[in-house]
Amino acid sequence: MTTNTVESTPQAAPPRVERVAAEPQAGDEIVVHNPATGDVIGKVPVLSPAEVVALVERARKAQKAWGALTVEQRCNRLAPVKGLLLERLDDLAEAISRENGKTLQEAMTMELMVALELLQAYLKRAPEALAPRKLPIRLAKHRGSYLHYVPKGVIGIISPWNFPFSIPFGEVLFGLLAGNAVVIKPSEVTPLIALRLRELFVDAGIDPELLHVATGRGATGGALIEAGVGHICFTGSVATGRRVGEACGRALIPCTLELGGKAAAIVCADANLNRTAQALCWGAFGNHGQVCASVERVYVDERVFPELRDRVVAITRKLRQGNPMDDVDVGALTFPPQADKIRALLQDAKDKGAVFETGGIPEPGARFVAPTVLSNVHHGMRVMREESFGPLMPIQVVKDEAEAIRHANDSDLGLLGYVFSSDTERARHIAEQMQAGTVMVNDVLASYSMAETPWQGLKASGIGRTHSDDGLRDMCECRHVNYDRFSLGDRELWWYPYSPKTRGLFKRLMRFLYGSGLTGRLG
Ligand code: NDP
Repeated sequence: MTTNTVESTPQAAPPRVERVAAEPQAGDEIVVHNPATGDVIGKVPVLSPAEVVALVERARKAQKAWGALTVEQRCNRLAPVKGLLLERLDDLAEAISRENGKTLQEAMTMELMVALELLQAYLKRAPEALAPRKLPIRLAKHRGSYLHYVPKGVIGIISPWNFPFSIPFGEVLFGLLAGNAVVIKPSEVTPLIALRLRELFVDAGIDPELLHVATGRGATGGALIEAGVGHICFTGSVATGRRVGEACGRALIPCTLELGGKAAAIVCADANLNRTAQALCWGAFGNHGQVCASVERVYVDERVFPELRDRVVAITRKLRQGNPMDDVDVGALTFPPQADKIRALLQDAKDKGAVFETGGIPEPGARFVAPTVLSNVHHGMRVMREESFGPLMPIQVVKDEAEAIRHANDSDLGLLGYVFSSDTERARHIAEQMQAGTVMVNDVLASYSMAETPWQGLKASGIGRTHSDDGLRDMCECRHVNYDRFSLGDRELWWYPYSPKTRGLFKRLMRFLYGSGLTGRLG
C-alpha cells in the first residue's frame, strides 16, 4: 500500500557521547563475569592494533581460495553448521545465558532460532540472491548490462553485548556466503560467546583461518576498522556508531551501522487489547528490555487506555524475575552500569509526575531491574525521548491516531515501530507514516527472525541493513558490466568527429525520444 501523505525523514539530531574507548595496554586482559551472579566465568586477551592487523592478513590469505568457490559450493561447505548448531542447542543456550543474563528460553528463541532460520533460508536463497542481475536498458538497445557480486575480501564485524550470538552470527554467515573472510570484534562484556560461535563454524569444517575473533575493548574495534578490511558491520550505540562511521569515512570503506532505537507502539481504539497487552509486555521486557527494537514507549487511544493499562499491569505483576538459568521470565541486566542510566531516566520521570503502575527506581548498580510500567508521561520526560535499554514501558494517552503518529515521529531515532489495530488497512496506513526502518502491525520484535526481511534503521538508528537479499548483497562489491550485444559498426554517432549534421540528427532524435504526443515527437 502507498500513500501520498508520507512525510520525508528529517535529518538526525546532533550526537550524544556515551562510552569512550581506552587504549589497550601490553598484556591487558578482560575478565568476563556472569551478570546475574557476578562470578568470574573467563578471561580473554586485549588484542593490540598490530595483532588485529595480523589476524586480518591471515583472513585475507584464506579468503583467496574461499572467494574462488561458487556460491553453491560455499553453501555446501556451510551446511554442516546447521546440524552442529542443532546438536549444541542446550550447551550454547547455557553459555549465552551465563554470559549475557538472558533467560534460557530467550537464548533459544531470540539467539539460536534466529541463527537457524538464517541458515535454513540463506543456504538455499544465497545462489539466487547473489546471481548476476540483468538491467533493462531503454536507450542503446545494442548494449546489455548486468550487475555481478564479488567478495569484498575481509569483513570486520563489531558487535554489542545484547545479542552476543545472533547478531554476529548473521553477519558472519552472510559474509562467508558472499565469499569473504571475517574478523569479529565482540563486545568486551560478552566475548566468550563469540569464541564459541567461531568454534561452531570451525568444528563444522570451515577453514579456521577464514574466521577470527579479535577480543578487546573499543580501541580494538577502532584498530579493526584501520586494519585493511573491505567493509565494517557495526552494531551498537549511536555515539560509537558516529565514531565508527567517521573512521570508515577516513579509511574510505563502506559500513553498515545498526544503532539504537526508541520504538513507539501505537494502540488504536479498535485493537485486540488482550493480544496487544501481551505483545507490549514481551516487546518491552523481553531480554530485560535490552533490545534495540524494544517497545520503548506506547501511545494509546484515550478510549481504551484504562483497559489496556490494567491488562498490561496484570501481566507484568505475574512475571517471574531471577537467575536466568532458572525457570523465570525475566533475567538479569547484561551490563550493570546500564542500571544507572535507567535510574536517571526513572528519577526524571518521577520528578515530572509520572505514575509508577509497577516496578520502581532500581538501586545503583542493580543486577536486576523490575519491569516498570509508567503512566501520566509526556514528551518533556527523558524516558519518552532517550533510549532506556531497560525493562520500562511508559504509556502516554493520545486523543487520536494523528497525535500518536506525531509523537512517534518526534524522535531522532527510527529503527522499529509498532501499530495495533483490528483494521489491517488502517494499521498499514498508520505504519506507512511512521519514520522507522520497519513497522510491524499487531506484533513486536519478531521481524528479526524473518531472515528474508531487512533489519535497518532510519535517522540516527543507522545506515544500511543486515539480513535479507539486500543485506547479503551489501557484503559484496556490486560491479557493473556493460557490453555490446551486437555491433553498430566502427563508431558510435556521438564519437569524433563532431559536425553540424550530427548535432542536427541528435536534435531530431531527442525530439523523437523525449517529446510528448505524436506531433511533438515528429515535429
Ligand atoms: P557500544 O556502542 O558501546 O559498543 C558496540 C561495540 O563497539 C562493542 O563491541 C564495543 O566494544 C565497540 N566499540 C566501542 N568503542 C569503539 C570504537 N571507538 N571503535 C570501534 N568499536 C568500538 O554499544 P553496546 O555494546 O553498549 O550496545 C548497546 C547499543 O547497541 C544500544 O544503543 C542498542 O540499541 C544498540 N543495538 C542496535 C541494534 C540494531 O540492530 N540496530 C541491535 C543491538 C543493539 P566494547 O564493548 O569492548 O567497548
